[in-house]
Formats: sequence, C-alpha cells, structure tokens
Amino acid sequence: MKYLDALIIGAGFSGLYQLHCLRDKLKLNTLVLEEGDDLGGTWYWNRYPGARCDSESFTYGFTFSKKIFKKWTWKERYPKQKVILKYLKYFSKEYNLKKNIVFKQKVISTQYFEKENLWKIKTNNMKIYFAKYLICAVGSLSSINLPAIKGINQFKGQLHHSGRWPKKNINFKNKIVGQVGTGSTGIQIAPEIAKKAKKLILFQRSPNFSIPARNRKLSNTNIKNYKKNFNKLRSFLKRTPGGHPFEFPKKSAFDFDEAKRNLMYEKSWQYGTLSFRATFNDIVKTIKANKTAVKFIENKIYSTVKNREYAKILTSFDHPFTAKRPTLNTNYYEMFNKKNVELVNLKENPIVKITKKGIKTKKNEYTLDKIIFATGFDALTGSIEKLNITGKKGIKLTKYWKSGPKSFLGLLVPNFPNMFIISGPGSPSVLTNVPVQIEQHVEWITKCIKFLENNKRQSIESTNEAAKKWQKEITSSVKKTLFMKAKSSWYKGDNIPGKSKSFLPYPGGMPKYRKVCLKVEKTNYKELKII
Ligand code: NAP
Repeated sequence: MKYLDALIIGAGFSGLYQLHCLRDKLKLNTLVLEEGDDLGGTWYWNRYPGARCDSESFTYGFTFSKKIFKKWTWKERYPKQKVILKYLKYFSKEYNLKKNIVFKQKVISTQYFEKENLWKIKTNNMKIYFAKYLICAVGSLSSINLPAIKGINQFKGQLHHSGRWPKKNINFKNKIVGQVGTGSTGIQIAPEIAKKAKKLILFQRSPNFSIPARNRKLSNTNIKNYKKNFNKLRSFLKRTPGGHPFEFPKKSAFDFDEAKRNLMYEKSWQYGTLSFRATFNDIVKTIKANKTAVKFIENKIYSTVKNREYAKILTSFDHPFTAKRPTLNTNYYEMFNKKNVELVNLKENPIVKITKKGIKTKKNEYTLDKIIFATGFDALTGSIEKLNITGKKGIKLTKYWKSGPKSFLGLLVPNFPNMFIISGPGSPSVLTNVPVQIEQHVEWITKCIKFLENNKRQSIESTNEAAKKWQKEITSSVKKTLFMKAKSSWYKGDNIPGKSKSFLPYPGGMPKYRKVCLKVEKTNYKELKII
C-alpha cells in the first residue's frame, strides 16, 4: 500500500509530461502506473508495419522547453513509430522520469473515498495505491476494437490487431494475408504487407479519403530552419485550430474557376500533409465546396488505380471529405496495381464469419495464413471506462456516461472529485495534433492543482451545470461542421455496438478552447465546486 499526492495512469506523451510538472514543478509525491513494459503509450502498442505519425515531425513533440526542442533532431518529415518512442525515451531521460514509473501495472479499479478525500487504485498485481489526485493519461485511441465477428476464435492461423501488435517480427513472406479495416492504420499497413506477402486480400467496408503523405528526409537546412524558428513555430501551433503548422485561408473554393481550383488542389496534393483540407476555407464547412475536393480526389484515384472495379470501390465514399479522419498514405492507391493485391467490397459482399481457415463472406470463402484487424478503437471513452472508476456515492463512471460522456472541458467530471482526464471526451484531443493539446491540458491541470494546494483546498469537481453547459457548447459547435454528415464514424461512437451516439471530441478548435480554459483558470475556477 502506498500513499501519494498524485497518481497518473499511463506513460505516453501526457503521463510523462504530467509527471514532470507535478513532481518537478509542484514537488508533489507522484507516481505513474503503466500497463506496458516500457513507456510510449499509443506509440508503444501501435508498432505495426508502416506505423508513422501523420503530423509533421518537428510539430509532434513538446514545445514548453526550448532546450528539449532544440536538443532533439527529427530527421524525416513524418516520424516513424520507433523514432517517436526514441523521442519519448529521450524526454524521459532528460527529466529522469522512469524512476517514478511502475511498468506492467494494469489498473483494474479506482475508487474515490469521500471522507478521506483519497482515490484508491488497484492493479492486476493486486498492488494498492492511495492518492489525492488521479490523472487519467490513458490516451484517446488505446482501447482496441476487435469486432465480435462470428467464429473469430476459430481461426487456426495468426490473428493480430494493429493496436496490440506483437514485439516479435511477423513474417509475411509467402503468406496469404487478409486485412480488415482501411482507416488511417489500415492504409499504412497494407502497402507494407503487400511488399512481402504472397497475397494481400483487403476487406474494405467503407473507403477513406487519403492524401499522399510525401514523406522525405529532412535536409540539414530544413533542420536548421525549424530549430531556429522555435519561438515562431510554438506560437503558430497555438494559433491554428488543430495545432498543426497550417492555417485556413480566406479564399473559398468558389473564388476560382474550375481549372484554377484544380491547379490549387494539385499543388496541395503534391505538397502532401493534412493541410490538403485547408486548400480553401470552406472545404470543411459546406457540402458544395467539399464536393469539389471529393471530385478532385476521386479523379486522382481513377488515374492511379488501373483496375476500374477497384477504383469504383475505393471511391464509393459515404461521407464528405474530413467528416471522418482523413488519412495520409504512401503508395496506398498505387498498391492496387500490384498483382498480389485483391480488394473485397464488404458493402456488397459482407463477412459472414471467420472459419478455421480464413474469412467467409456472403459470396466467397478466403483461405488465409494470417488475418490483420486494423479496425480501430473504442475511442476517447473506452480506455477511461476500462479503469473501472467509482466516484462519490458509489457512482460508476460507465453508468454515469451510459448516455454519453459528461464532463467540463473534457477535463473534469461531476461526481468524480480531483480526477482529471487528459485529452478525453469533450476536449479537442483527436481533432488536433495531439501533443499540442496534451501540453495545454497538462499545464492547465498543473495550475489547477497548484491553486488547490496553495489555497489549502481539498478537492475540485465539475458541477452538473458546468458539464451541461459544456455539452451544449459541443453540440452547437459541431453544427457548424460537416462531422455529423458521416453516416458512421468513431468520432460519434458509431463503431462500437451499444456505445451512446454523441459527438465525442470538442470541435470548436484549439484557440477557442484554450481561451475558455484560460478564463476558468483566471477566474479561480469559480464555476466549479471547490471544497
Ligand atoms: P479507424 O479509423 O476506426 O478505422 C477502422 C477501419 O476498420 C475502418 O475502415 C472500418 O470501416 C473498419 N472496420 C471496423 N470494424 C469493422 C468490421 N466489423 N468489419 C469490417 N470493417 C470494419 O481506426 P484506425 O485506422 O486504427 O485509426 C483510428 C485513429 O487513430 C485515426 O483516425 C487517427 O486519429 C489515429 N491514427 C493515426 C495515425 C497516424 O497519425 N499516422 C495512424 C493510425 C491511426 P468503416 O469505416 O466502415 O467503419
């Protein structure tokens, strides 16, 4: 049994920075519990072939310290999973963080004791910790979604989910591989498997929009420049809605004739990055402008993929561009020109079951050596709910969130005092370049705890009114976007059977969100319940 000031769950970007802030700045007795056997969070588990971040490397890290920023060198435009892990290890070493992290500790329950004002945290090793503050730094995309397809346990070959990829190398040579899922992950894995496997059969339910990443090595000049412009970059990332290094222009798609518009799309297409959506200011706002981007992407797919039937399946979009997370790719569409790649349209030929030998669809049976599920996550709420959290008066978080997550700013939850969530539901989180959001959350939490400690307060908690008001803000913000036009999207919880259907992240953009958070802090958290 151990008594702590603060306990953090998760040793990814958020847990590591939070540990540094609470332990080194506030001098609190702080500990991190981590399920994995090393740090890294999302980047520890997602070690599938082709795993790389879609944010540009020099923006995908901490910016609170010039020294930390400058000492580390990103060598490619987009960082590989292994490189991100190295970066986090570098960060941890700089602040000697590992000494306050306990690995291989899966939290199985957490409970708040009102009289003692303590959180009790239990792990799978039956270790018990008590802490005044509980910080959930468990990541928004950590709880995997392995669909409950009939017969899934029958398969005699190897079956893997991208989010729990084994450490040991998987050999695809001379193998027939089935892959289910074509989101950001699937689009990265498939070209890598296709390079090695005898055959890759890709099972697509819905197509995703994908823009060429155009990864490359950074030149010495690139590196020198991004380091030199640290101050500018840091303030720029704070100004943009998604914490990315691009802004939306003033120009509408209709300020230009079709030929000029397409030239501008072409320029964005050649440039790569997630900034394609910011070619014009109305792509993400109006269906009419959005359709011009959709048409451009469709034409690109048709001009790349030689098999007309495949091109048709890959362009059977059921949502506007950006209504679901757009993806970046390296040779994804080109891959369909390889002889060893087959595309199955699950919309016309759905999976019926998994058999001992492979995947049986309505029309065929596919014999496979391996099946890869790139089927995503129980996003934003899944990893928090798995902590089995009980708040005041025995209220269970899972029950409290049954009809949708309720929180204030995604940071605090009514009935769960002194519990903070980093990048949880109700915060911009997955709609941003996540380290930018994480930094803002960690710093807000640190200042809040400092306020409580300095003023000798016991606890802070969101009121029901504050959480309701915030939910209204999310609902009204999302109306100004195209997100709800997607028939089915994990942003709305549609991918998990039985999950409540509400828009999960805050879609109003980082600058607006930052302003609201700052106001709460500057007014001494007066709309919250402080004891
Ligand atoms: P995802 O976007 O949820 O995609 C899951 C895929 O699996 C979709 O194609 C989905 O089809 C399919 N699927 C799910 N259940 C299925 C079923 N029962 N049968 C057939 N198909 C099924 O998950 P993800 O690709 O892992 O990405 C999740 C998020 O992680 C991304 O959006 C991104 O935010 C982040 N991510 C980032 C990077 C990066 O930065 N490079 C890489 C990977 C992931 P439907 O579309 O029809 O539901």
